[in-house]
Amino acid sequence: MASFSSIVRGLSCKRKAILATALRKFQPKNDNLIFGSAYHTAVEFGIDKGIEALKEAGLSDMKPLLIEMVTRLNNFMSINEIEMLDNEMEFAMNVDGTDEKFIGFIDGLALWRGKQWLIEFKTARSIDVDCVPVDSQITAYLYACRELGLCEPEGVLYIVNQKSVNKPPVVLANGHLSVAKNQGCTLTDYLDKVQELYGESIPPKVELFIEWLAENEKPLLVSVATKRSQAQLDRFGDMLKKYVIEEGNLKKAIEQNGIDAVLRETPCFANKMCMAGCDYSDVCKALLIDEQIDIGGIDSDEAYRELIG
Ligand code: SF4
Repeated sequence: MASFSSIVRGLSCKRKAILATALRKFQPKNDNLIFGSAYHTAVEFGIDKGIEALKEAGLSDMKPLLIEMVTRLNNFMSINEIEMLDNEMEFAMNVDGTDEKFIGFIDGLALWRGKQWLIEFKTARSIDVDCVPVDSQITAYLYACRELGLCEPEGVLYIVNQKSVNKPPVVLANGHLSVAKNQGCTLTDYLDKVQELYGESIPPKVELFIEWLAENEKPLLVSVATKRSQAQLDRFGDMLKKYVIEEGNLKKAIEQNGIDAVLRETPCFANKMCMAGCDYSDVCKALLIDEQIDIGGIDSDEAYRELIG
């Protein structure tokens, strides 16, 4: 059984895939993951459920951010007349007549401009949609839909919501509105403040700043519609089968020979960069220092914490 993220993990580092197979249950979730999941919960089941999820994880201080992002998204969906038809569509497909499965969750299916589109909700620190035309996750979900006959979408609506709250316009100590370009407020909020402070007598430099803001205001939510051709889906499917079967074989090898044996056969080329971005870097480091560690023997949180020191 392989998911899109487990395939990506295995492709980036085989050792990471092996460690994840054995140790995922001990890996604490980071705040970004918890917030992302609370956001998805709030979008699907309502803001109260999202807030509850944050509270349970001890992240209640992120509640204002969640409320703002969900409100922003709801307004966007309503202004653009995107009507959700289904949420959290789970799928599992056998590949190439084997018992190996490709599994996943599609965020949703929506009606937009008279056509059905898969929906992919993302949260991010900054908005970058350059990746969308080549994003394999999008291709993977369209491929699964086609192969399983789930629906016939036009493509995917990729909706990125920036993880940040709107900043209010800055009022200086002398009572005037700031014209600093990095104050991060919206044009609407700035115009409201201009009205409140100046009425009709707007200072020239504030007028100039309003013009600049109108041209340069960066949206906090961006949506991109993207499609894939049948040939692209075919090619992706061929590649996918290979990796799903490879991951299945890796798991079977771990079951049959034990994780220590499989790790020993998997060379490690750890470096500063991979260590910085890897959830298993502490374990990987410990193994590099002490080859005698019995990873297969880790069966409790306590043993795991002891291993990573
Ligand atoms: S630290 Fe680097 S080499 Fe080690 S598991 Fe992670 S990605 Fe792989």
